[in-house]
Amino acid sequence: MSDPFEIIAAHKFSSCHRNEILTSGVVCGCFHCCQTFDSTAIVEWVDEDDSGVGQTALCPRCGIDSVISSCSGFPVTLDFLKEMRHYWFGDDSSDSPQGEQRAETTPLRFVPNASPSKRPASHKWALFVFIAVVATNIRLNLMGQFDILGIIVTIAGVAAFFSSLFFARSPRTYTLGMITLALVFVRSLQSLWFDIVAYRNGLFHAPQSTMLPFIIFAGCAVALLLWLFQAYTFGASSRQYYDLPPIAKKRSA
Ligand SMILES: [Zn+2]
Repeated sequence: MSDPFEIIAAHKFSSCHRNEILTSGVVCGCFHCCQTFDSTAIVEWVDEDDSGVGQTALCPRCGIDSVISSCSGFPVTLDFLKEMRHYWFGDDSSDSPQGEQRAETTPLRFVPNASPSKRPASHKWALFVFIAVVATNIRLNLMGQFDILGIIVTIAGVAAFFSSLFFARSPRTYTLGMITLALVFVRSLQSLWFDIVAYRNGLFHAPQSTMLPFIIFAGCAVALLLWLFQAYTFGASSRQYYDLPPIAKKRSA
């Protein structure tokens, strides 16, 4: 039995290893189908770099990106591959590791640490924003400051909040959260705009000097909301949480 740390550490060598594999022309092994092959057998690569060259090998036998090579320093033996398979794929039907029938099953793209169950930070902050916005808008409506955007934001906030609690990982929750955060952002921008206009025209009941910090604070809140929207929508950990592919980096032409 190998050291569990070895099994975890060896996994790091299964991605972004094009140079390591190609410069050596070594024996490679796949810890999904547990077959070994020469590095020259690899034809498909994923995880393109800026110049569009895939950096992670796909197994030529089963198509999964779970290839390690002997120059990673780890043993590319059947026993080791089986242990890695057990750890990373949680499947112990290693009686037929060389089985060709495995190769015929739909090739799944194996993503390291796929489906983390921890909520990303942006998701937690979004939950907080949903509650705060709903509370604020209900209060404003009760005070008689009734407007259609306020109602929409309140309904979206309630829906997004409960959806985040009970269907946290649904793609619909992601979409709903994104729309709600965008609405909240527009709402806060609108509110900040009104405050600035009121400030400039001296429409506040309080003296202008006491209102300035309030407006600066509101401006910071708007900036934070924009940042949160960005992290929730495009952030790698948030997208991974919803099993969405990361946003591709723009290629510098
Ligand atoms: Zn394979």
